[in-house]
Amino acid sequence: MSAYLHRPRSTLIDRPTPIQRLTRLEESLGRACPPIYAKRDDLMGLGGGGNKLRKLEFLIGEALAQGCDTFITTGARQSNHARLSAAAAARAGLACELILTESVAREDETYRRNGNVLLDALFGATVVRRPAGTDALAVAQARAEQLAATGRRAYVVGSGGSSPLGCLGYALCAEEIIAQEQAADLRFARIIVPNGSAGTHAGLAAGLKAAGDAPARILSFTVLAPVEAARAATLDLAGKTLALIDPARGLAGDEILVSGDQLGEGYGVPTEAMIEAVRLVARTEGLLLDPVYGGKAFAGLIAAIRQGAWHGGEPMLFIMTGGLPGLFAYEPAFRSA
Ligand SMILES: *Cc1c(COP(=O)(O)O)cnc(C)c1O
Repeated sequence: MSAYLHRPRSTLIDRPTPIQRLTRLEESLGRACPPIYAKRDDLMGLGGGGNKLRKLEFLIGEALAQGCDTFITTGARQSNHARLSAAAAARAGLACELILTESVAREDETYRRNGNVLLDALFGATVVRRPAGTDALAVAQARAEQLAATGRRAYVVGSGGSSPLGCLGYALCAEEIIAQEQAADLRFARIIVPNGSAGTHAGLAAGLKAAGDAPARILSFTVLAPVEAARAATLDLAGKTLALIDPARGLAGDEILVSGDQLGEGYGVPTEAMIEAVRLVARTEGLLLDPVYGGKAFAGLIAAIRQGAWHGGEPMLFIMTGGLPGLFAYEPAFRSA
């Protein structure tokens, strides 16, 4: 861990997050189902929790070390990253400004007002809305310059907090998983994650590689970019993250596995398979996946198991990345016919 510890980090979560076996779900998927475990990165004490807090530990740490007074970031209207940035900034005593774009074509009141939107306001963030297609990062940078002219100092990070520095949060998570495997005398054949801004997959890949482990154990399901673009972005970001840890190592293209099978019509657009996955995990395990990320990635895991992939009985690890507020924003999608 020494490669990370010299960097400023603001502690936002209690680690390690638990890893739990989902035996009732396994039973419901039938005899060919391998052991399925969930890493509970939805169980974090700040702001409703979720994967962005691991990145924000490094990002807020750097913002404080630079003497910033404001944290600015970007995302979609129902961004979990925006909500957790607002919570983490509140905790750190920083002002928070969110540049949110209308990149999901939903007009219903719940999407516009509930879920993360409600929480952004509760955490005291200033929200600036822009139409779909806006270069939100450019808006954020212009705002930071405007603040600088008045003597203030802003820290800017783009959507998902997926700068190489932010991705160190998931490199650290890779070390955490390896330690948990060793303690439980287990080795996960596959580590399944959703892929949005690519930082979770990239950070895990960099962390596994730095530890001499195999990044090809990770399989992500893109929920945002088309599959080839997602794979290229993940490889690029994983390489940049690894360079912060161990510049002597590199990653090869075939070490980054991304599937496009669950993207459906695009980012934030519900699919039948996502709705089925969210319901199945809720009814068998009492656990909550979100509709934009975890629900789609879990649908990918279920589809692979039903197709008979991974019938060797080797354990699988699904990373539960949080996003519960998103469920409340997608209430119409879950109305039973
Ligand atoms: C952002 C997010 C992801 C995707 O993580 P990336 O690092 O952006 O790929 C997955 N799940 C949830 C709930 C998220 O909010």
